[in-house]
Amino acid sequence: MEIIRRPHLMQQMALSLKRDKFKIAFVPTMGYLHSGHLSLVRRANQLGQVTVVSIFVNPTQFGPEEDYEEYPRDLARDAEMLKDLDVDVLFAPDATDLFPEGFSTTIENPSWGALLCGRSRPGHFRGVTTVVGKLFHLVFPDFAVFGQKDFQQCAIIKRMVLDLNFPMEIVVCPTVRESDGLAMSSRNVYLNPDERKAALVLHRSLQHIETLVGNGEHHGEKLTQALAELVGREPLARLDYAQVVDAATLEPLEKVDRKAAVLLAVHLGKTRLIDNVLLDPKGE
Ligand code: AMP
Repeated sequence: MEIIRRPHLMQQMALSLKRDKFKIAFVPTMGYLHSGHLSLVRRANQLGQVTVVSIFVNPTQFGPEEDYEEYPRDLARDAEMLKDLDVDVLFAPDATDLFPEGFSTTIENPSWGALLCGRSRPGHFRGVTTVVGKLFHLVFPDFAVFGQKDFQQCAIIKRMVLDLNFPMEIVVCPTVRESDGLAMSSRNVYLNPDERKAALVLHRSLQHIETLVGNGEHHGEKLTQALAELVGREPLARLDYAQVVDAATLEPLEKVDRKAAVLLAVHLGKTRLIDNVLLDPKGE
């Protein structure tokens, strides 16, 4: 595995790989890797001949009151975790190289970026689409692999690739969970033992919603209310939002009569966690 730090060297290597007709599969991450990230790398290995993983804690997707400084970082540990997987390049640029003085061009989907997580994290998705667009121009992937845990992010990136004609395919992988159901996240290290226990409310409540839908409840608003109520029963949890949306458009869904996503964001102390489940009433 080669470690590349400088953006122009990454781009040179990617261009040369493209000239030699190698298919590149790319996994962008913010590091502090866990099994969820590794599942994306394994999928990337199947998709392409060359696997590139990036590790970059992107300052532009954090709000001023958010955890950019505290976000866990350990490049040596991450490199060790990737060593036994078939990773060809670990791209780990510095923030000053990706966002040098004078940087002023952004990519934004203002309407989709204002929904759901965007309501409590203004500017977050502009930061995400801008950095992902930049990374795509440095890595030239044929495939880029993302996790379903960040459902809105996946939807916005798919839309960006479509709208801006990036010649590549976005592949979304299922959420990897701890044995008790908590979705893996680099931010789980912030949770104290009580919050860690309380965090189970996300997956448990979402599972309950799946059961309700299985039992014939298809009313979007009722499901949303039920979800908010379930989260409300956990004293340490503070609901950010609960919403049933059309999986393709992120629009709130009145009736679950097509592919839908049940999305949840919850604060536990200072940590904000997200999770979701997909509903497919036609079983496609
Ligand atoms: P992050 O490092 O948190 O920005 O995540 C990098 C990529 O890993 C994103 O595509 C995430 O959706 C994905 N990811 C994060 N957590 C999980 C998980 N538990 N299971 C699967 N993919 C994940």
